[in-house]
Amino acid sequence: NFQPATNTHPPSKDLFERAQQLMPGGVNSPVRAFRSVGGAPFFTKSAKGAHLTTADDRELIDFVCTWGPAIHGHNDPDIREAVAAALENGTSFGTPNPYEVEMAELIVELVPSVEKVRMCNSGTEATMSAIRLARGYTGRSKIIKFAGCYHGHVDSLLVKAGSGALTLGNPDSAGIPAGFAAETIVLDYNDVDGLEKAFAEHGEDIAAIIVEPYPANCGLILPDEGYLESLRTLCTGNGTVLIFDEVMTGFRVALGGVQERVGITPDLTAMGKIIGGGLPVGALGGKTEIMDHLAPLGPVYQAGTLSGNPLAMAAGIASLKKLKATNPYATLEKLGAQIRDALLDAAKAKGIALQIPQVGSMFSLFFNEAPVRDFNDATGSTTDHFSKLFHYALDHGVYLPPSAYETCFLCSAHDGEAIEQAAEVLAAGIKKL
Ligand code: PMP
Repeated sequence: NFQPATNTHPPSKDLFERAQQLMPGGVNSPVRAFRSVGGAPFFTKSAKGAHLTTADDRELIDFVCTWGPAIHGHNDPDIREAVAAALENGTSFGTPNPYEVEMAELIVELVPSVEKVRMCNSGTEATMSAIRLARGYTGRSKIIKFAGCYHGHVDSLLVKAGSGALTLGNPDSAGIPAGFAAETIVLDYNDVDGLEKAFAEHGEDIAAIIVEPYPANCGLILPDEGYLESLRTLCTGNGTVLIFDEVMTGFRVALGGVQERVGITPDLTAMGKIIGGGLPVGALGGKTEIMDHLAPLGPVYQAGTLSGNPLAMAAGIASLKKLKATNPYATLEKLGAQIRDALLDAAKAKGIALQIPQVGSMFSLFFNEAPVRDFNDATGSTTDHFSKLFHYALDHGVYLPPSAYETCFLCSAHDGEAIEQAAEVLAAGIKKL
């Protein structure tokens, strides 16, 4: 594997040495450790717009956007003001608060399939609770997931998972009882035959299908024509709950997420990232009939000391209201196409096979001869080129996600100089491969 000579400057190096003594791998989330691309991570001391400022005062154009939430750019003034105003009233009450109602109203208004919402604190909590609710509602135990889709570090979902679980080469985490994994049927995304077979064999036992409607945790993969419709049809026909995990795509590929773009109505939706405006948040929403199975109305238990936290709600409300007011989706689509075309042109000139699936502000790079339709295609791509490009970009002021299998995110603040500069750097990096 490609290894960079070095990429840490003194303050980041010192922090990382201290961190490694204190935290496993020096990080609080595995992908941040740069294990997949090699080298050591930098530390960020502040962020604004499309830029991060590192502990050693380097300015980087950021294509990670805090893994999705920063759709308006970092340190957005409207979100900051909303949090500051909420802070005046206190940080947590442990009783219902008015922000929760406003947040629920916004989500119900914006996400087509959602009639009722339960707030939680992370995307992982949202998917974990969605699975429990689907099982409690149907009285069935099996679930279907797709290879390469990542739904957070939920026991029964860490089977052939993407994101850090894939990058680190351990898709099946240690510490998960075989019995849990046995309830999870893993299928290939975009394979309708596989789905039909699974339903023919286990239909009456399948509580839920959980899917990232646009999988974005083993690079970005887009559905074949009609594929998402077939999920809906099979779920409806078999009394199975269809769960869209829109933690990444929600409010990003459209205000109402993938379900708005494709006009398909899931039964439950897991949300996170953008609805927290950069504070820790997740949410689970869907049909009233199913949602009312949650405690205190129903028998499915789900709870949280900090769920609906006023600061997180204030940040998320500000973020969603700004999306409604600015409607940045046409701009984000333009930025996505601009960077995609610049990189494809550079690869063509260089004679390197490169695929760039892109939808709005999401795109990823597969160094592959053929379009990528599933996990096997994705992991069949060459990752060496990505690691080299990653380090070239980092040395020249552009931060890509530190893994070939993560999706790049754009924000409104990339418009203008940042996207031009980044496109130049990345094209030059491809030329150097
Ligand atoms: N679902 C998807 C599709 C995700 O991309 C992620 C995280 N990247 C999660 C769930 C888990 O969210 P969190 O990290 O907030 O627990």
